[in-house]
Amino acid sequence: MTIIRISDDALARACGADELAAAFARKGHEIQRVSSWGMHWLEPLVEIDGKGFGPATLADIDAILDGSSGLAIGTIADHPFIASQQRLTFARAGKTRPLNLEDYEATGGWAGLRRARLIGSDAIIEELLASGLRGRGGAGFPAGIKWKTVAGATADQKYIVCNADEGDSATFADRMVMEGDPFQLIEGMAIAGEAVGASKGYVYIRSEYPDAIAKMQAAARISAQIVAPFVVEIRVGAGAYVCGEETSLLNSLEGKRGEVRAKPPLPALKGLFGKPTVVNNVLTLTAVPHILTGGGAAAYAELGMGRSKGTMPIQLAGNIRHGGLYETAFGITLGELVNDIGGGTASGRPVKAVQVGGPLGAYLHPDQFDIPFDYEAYAAVDALIGHAGLTVFDDTADLRAMARFAMEFCAAESCGKCTPCRIGSTRGVELIDRIATGGRVLAGVETAPQMHNMPKQGRSQDDEIQLLEDLCDTMKFGSLCALGGFTPYPVMSALKHWPDDFRK
Ligand code: SF4
Repeated sequence: MTIIRISDDALARACGADELAAAFARKGHEIQRVSSWGMHWLEPLVEIDGKGFGPATLADIDAILDGSSGLAIGTIADHPFIASQQRLTFARAGKTRPLNLEDYEATGGWAGLRRARLIGSDAIIEELLASGLRGRGGAGFPAGIKWKTVAGATADQKYIVCNADEGDSATFADRMVMEGDPFQLIEGMAIAGEAVGASKGYVYIRSEYPDAIAKMQAAARISAQIVAPFVVEIRVGAGAYVCGEETSLLNSLEGKRGEVRAKPPLPALKGLFGKPTVVNNVLTLTAVPHILTGGGAAAYAELGMGRSKGTMPIQLAGNIRHGGLYETAFGITLGELVNDIGGGTASGRPVKAVQVGGPLGAYLHPDQFDIPFDYEAYAAVDALIGHAGLTVFDDTADLRAMARFAMEFCAAESCGKCTPCRIGSTRGVELIDRIATGGRVLAGVETAPQMHNMPKQGRSQDDEIQLLEDLCDTMKFGSLCALGGFTPYPVMSALKHWPDDFRK
């Protein structure tokens, strides 16, 4: 009897992992369902004695078992995609059974929480500050400062809220943590509770992640006694993009409409139910146990570049040959990620654009491929790292259509609270449509314009493009939150780098 290891990650299951596991089991082999290594182009990946075979189908089973399969990739841990990474958050990926406490303990699990309880609040926060860990959800705000603010607030109740509302295109790192290493997230939350004096934590997951929800619910139940008196509760959101914004998320958790709250007051002082609250995303909280153990804060801070410290789980998706999860220190260039690690486009055609940071991230041109992965370097070129999802496009992509999609997405997801976002995005779609048809002709001008004393006139394509730029400016600086404020990034970057797509 051979031990066969196959991932139970949702992506692997979508590729046929369940059927494969059942077929191996029918042949009398022992099946272990583990987390995913993150080499998505090889899923479902079958592991026997550390050696990998993928992507495997039912027809490959006999050849895999008798050693004649052409799908063999050798020792998985030595595969260049894995061996070239610096895995801290994803150190257990592919190696452990997600809900197995023995596996977790044997790989260093709970050591961070034990140490946190030993050193106490001030020392935990000092370590976090020294590590330079910044919020991995998008804004990159230093986690230690947020924790220090909550720790310093006086209140009868404080909360830890984990933002697991992963809604960006090309992102799946949060999902992989929750499905593959859920105890690590719970441990990070319990450490945060210890640091700031919070006894209750909530994980807010969108409903599109049924596997992650089930795993987190089970993990919270299994680990309840270990993290007690800290209590973790799993909450399911309906899946509005704006609920990934921390104040909307808090409203949603309170059972209210997911609308953005004006700041101040900061959630750190007046957050969930008006109490001091740490809101961090999944990757931020899961980085914490390693910082408190592993090489410690100093070793963590040595990784990366500038003020972007530590590692970032980068998600490679879209039209890319080797899509998957790649964790490495900040500073790696986009060209290395897309061409060297990702293997270029899956279609084999030249790369035209890479959108970084979700649907509101800028489109980067191959001329910009030497930009290092770093919050400040990206901000300097009007781009975002966001949640580090990369969507690759080949030369058949139409960037005007993608700019239109950004405006359309904003119109669909706008919470409606402020005018630049609510109205601006709809006008943006109309403008891009008019640009596509060469501008506004006189016959199309409304017969009862608001400005009755203005002569009616058509607008050239260039006039419309100028208007689009003005609209983006208004949305960027006039919107209350990042949804309206960041929508101009994909639109303006598309216009800047691929003007011919707009003037066709
Ligand atoms: S920018 Fe959009 S999503 Fe954000 S508060 Fe304004 S209307 Fe709501």
